Amino acid sequence: MPEGPSVRRFHSVACMFVGEVVQRVTGRTRQVCPGLLVGLKLRECQVHGKKLYLGFTSGCSLESKGPEMVVAQSQERPVPALGPVLDTPSSQQVMDSALGEEEEEEAVGSSALSGQSPLTPQREDQWLQFHFGMFGSVRANGFSRAKRANKRGDWQDPPPRLVLYFPGGQFLVFYNCRICPCGSPPSSHTSDILCPEFDRDLALRALQLAQPICYTLLNQHLFSGLGNIIKNEVLYLSAIHPMSLGCLLDMEKLQILLDQVIQFSHEWLDNKAKGKGLKYHIYQRERCPEGHGVERAELGPPHGLQRATWWCPVCQPAVQ
Ligand SMILES: [Zn+2]
Repeated sequence: MPEGPSVRRFHSVACMFVGEVVQRVTGRTRQVCPGLLVGLKLRECQVHGKKLYLGFTSGCSLESKGPEMVVAQSQERPVPALGPVLDTPSSQQVMDSALGEEEEEEAVGSSALSGQSPLTPQREDQWLQFHFGMFGSVRANGFSRAKRANKRGDWQDPPPRLVLYFPGGQFLVFYNCRICPCGSPPSSHTSDILCPEFDRDLALRALQLAQPICYTLLNQHLFSGLGNIIKNEVLYLSAIHPMSLGCLLDMEKLQILLDQVIQFSHEWLDNKAKGKGLKYHIYQRERCPEGHGVERAELGPPHGLQRATWWCPVCQPAVQ
């Protein structure tokens, strides 16, 4: 699942097209009306934890694009809201909601999340929010190809959810993501683990909650961008059992955990920038680096999402 570092990379890819006007739109999304994006300028891209935001504005630079712009709509046309085509959930939307594995960890009450956009017709700036679920991705100027044949033996390429075409034959492709029209992205970055504004004191207080530390880490209100891989790895690197109650861990231990969250996330992001993979210490491993047998269980809050968790009972002893 794309976690904070992956979505930051998607953000870098999307940023290549800032300032360009959308010429043509294709894809299988029914969550936005593709035709309404044509002629809009990609004004800004933002990343917040695991979500990407693209801000569009009416194509005020259409003239400057010269004769290459042939599809864009007239500037006089009011900018309509980028709302869904259908009011009732489509099969695609149902599939999308299944992709949003960490929905229950996400903010509640956000208009952006509900998909009920506060957008009004003729609004100058319009935003789309992208949530990448389990397998979402973004590519520039290239499509994803089938890596294996399906059950019928067909080599079918993954269908893009949305493709934005820009001048010069360039395009931006989105796969396996849920797309919602939304208001402005959140202004606060204090919970984003990859942001310089990340509030360490606030995070330390959150880690002291009287609940298993592995639940707290995946709470996107508190640790935006932190996903299951980071959770498993930083708990191992800090020698903390995933079910340890935060309130029973001493401050020194929590400081170490917080250091690991920040360090691991940034190293992962740096690796991505260099095209390097990530070597896991405990995630999906049968043995820890010390050679001990690894335990695995689905762990999560009661009535909440249960996530695959790996830990070493020797290196990460339970705290009583
Ligand atoms: Zn071990």
